[in-house]
Amino acid sequence: MDLPIHAYFQGKIVPYADAHVGVATHGLNYGTAAFGGLRGYWNEARQSLFVFRPHDHFRRLLNSAKILCMDIGETPESLTQITLDLLRADGYRRDVYIRPLVYKASEGIGVRLHDLEDAITIFALPFNGYMKNDSGAHVTVSSWRRVDDNTIPARGKISGAYASSALVKTDAARAGFDEALLLDQAGHVVEGSAMNVFMVRDGVLITPPITDNILEGITRRSIIELARAELGLTVLERSIDRSEVFICDEFFMTGTAAQVAAVTKVDYRPVGAGVMGPITAQLRTLFDDIVRGKNPRYAQWITAV
Ligand code: PMP
Repeated sequence: MDLPIHAYFQGKIVPYADAHVGVATHGLNYGTAAFGGLRGYWNEARQSLFVFRPHDHFRRLLNSAKILCMDIGETPESLTQITLDLLRADGYRRDVYIRPLVYKASEGIGVRLHDLEDAITIFALPFNGYMKNDSGAHVTVSSWRRVDDNTIPARGKISGAYASSALVKTDAARAGFDEALLLDQAGHVVEGSAMNVFMVRDGVLITPPITDNILEGITRRSIIELARAELGLTVLERSIDRSEVFICDEFFMTGTAAQVAAVTKVDYRPVGAGVMGPITAQLRTLFDDIVRGKNPRYAQWITAV
């Protein structure tokens, strides 16, 4: 596995080997941390690395931190600048994944959010694909349920909640599936293990509303906008029933790591014709061109390093 070259740690960019926390760190013991996940895409022709929607990612990170009563005294602008400085120090000329992590840094015992120190670290790693068979994934419906807004708020990327996501992912993988669909407590299909979900029925694009216990996904937001503006589709944000997945025309998942991943089989049933559908294919191509800096109409979504 590749390790980061540098990390932003305690206010400075340092060699990764010098970025340590103690084993009694609160965030490590209790999951009292929030993280982000951004991608940098290398464009060979332009000899440039582009970061996708950093401002939106850092706005969500600071919101997640706020839910955990954390204040790191940074802004989306300052965090974007730190990230650009870090990526310049790293000098990657390939696709990367960028991980900011805000965590309760105090060391000691005691479950709470108050009267603890907060800290931020950021590092980047070489990164290629994430999801197996992302042009034709076979998924199962997980027996685990999505964390609820009244348990661990699902709209933020809160570290502790990912113990649940890890249960989902491993059980699906061990059962031979590429990914899993998660139901919320009400029984609606809401997410993958770390992806938002979309379905096409009769030419309409449908995705669960944020209030169905989903992460406020940046890729989701981008795909909704592209589907309306570029494909002229009607996009509905409404709950999705489990059985709709069996009869829909197309189904796909979105996320920074997964990008736009086609789901073509759910629990041994073909989705639509059992191959990637035309709307999914068009959105994949559009998205890939935009993130790599090949579509000038969405140049405002990417920031050159
Ligand atoms: N849901 C969950 C639970 C996730 O972890 C992710 C990955 N960040 C997503 C959805 C997709 O969000 P985004 O498009 O912002 O990466």
